[in-house]
Amino acid sequence: MLSQDILQDCGIAVTRHEAVHGGDINKAYCLYGNGQKYFLKINNAERYSGMFEKEARGLQALAQNIHLTVPAVIKFGSLQGEQYLLMEWIDTSPAKKDCWQNFGAALALLHKKPATYFGWIEDNFIGSVVQCNHQQTEWHLFYGECRILPLVKHLVDAGVFSKNDMIAAEAFCKRLEQLFPVEPPALLHGDLWSGNYMITTSGYAAIFDPAVYCGHREMDIGMTKLFGGFAPYFYNAYNEAYPLEKDWQQRLPYTQLYPLLVHSLLFGGNYVATVKEIMGQFH
Ligand code: ADP
Repeated sequence: MLSQDILQDCGIAVTRHEAVHGGDINKAYCLYGNGQKYFLKINNAERYSGMFEKEARGLQALAQNIHLTVPAVIKFGSLQGEQYLLMEWIDTSPAKKDCWQNFGAALALLHKKPATYFGWIEDNFIGSVVQCNHQQTEWHLFYGECRILPLVKHLVDAGVFSKNDMIAAEAFCKRLEQLFPVEPPALLHGDLWSGNYMITTSGYAAIFDPAVYCGHREMDIGMTKLFGGFAPYFYNAYNEAYPLEKDWQQRLPYTQLYPLLVHSLLFGGNYVATVKEIMGQFH
């Protein structure tokens, strides 16, 4: 049940609302009011403390830096043990012919903008998992210390991983400096799988539900390829605007290791086996 107090706190005269399905951890709604539609997400304020204000800051950072639609944040707040994020509603439509080229080029231009460190202004979330964002000047150190090792440790603590898996993870981290080409940090969407974009009524992509940080740009590319991949035009346009370093395809398992660890924590199952297979090569 959507609380009347939260609706009131949103500050819009809501005439009706409908549940929206699709997210994993949040309740989501379409609100109707003031002759417009709004998107509202709600979850437990204690369990996921600060999640939506961090998401709001991530959305705003993306909106300022990418030539794609990013839903405007209207308000976030917290009351009676729940937190909420109120956003602009995005209607969907079929894609225009050059939608994928536009999407790929826009992501490349985002990645091309200089950032000064790997990390972010604060820790945030990827899904419901806390994402450590301590600022670092070296990608290989950031990826090991803030992405791989904390999650492997969680999985060891949860009894999903063995001590040997931790040893394999440490061996992987020691190789990171050789595995990744040195590149400047780039502002990333951070969770750019196919469930986190939609095609707006303009016929072009909107991106949402980010887990932003400044990282190696191949992290976003790896995420686009994790569950099916985007259309080939996307990668062609990306490469034209900001060519990926040689052998980026061979590095996909290394960039995908992080989201696969996140999925291992959240869902277990096959994800755990895939992670072990990737890390096992470094034992
Ligand atoms: P969660 O954080 O729970 O994963 P999402 O932000 O991914 O939630 O949103 C869940 C679903 O709601 C998405 O898959 C998408 O279909 C839809 N959605 C997300 N943002 C908007 C928006 N601004 N306007 C309309 N629909 C949206």
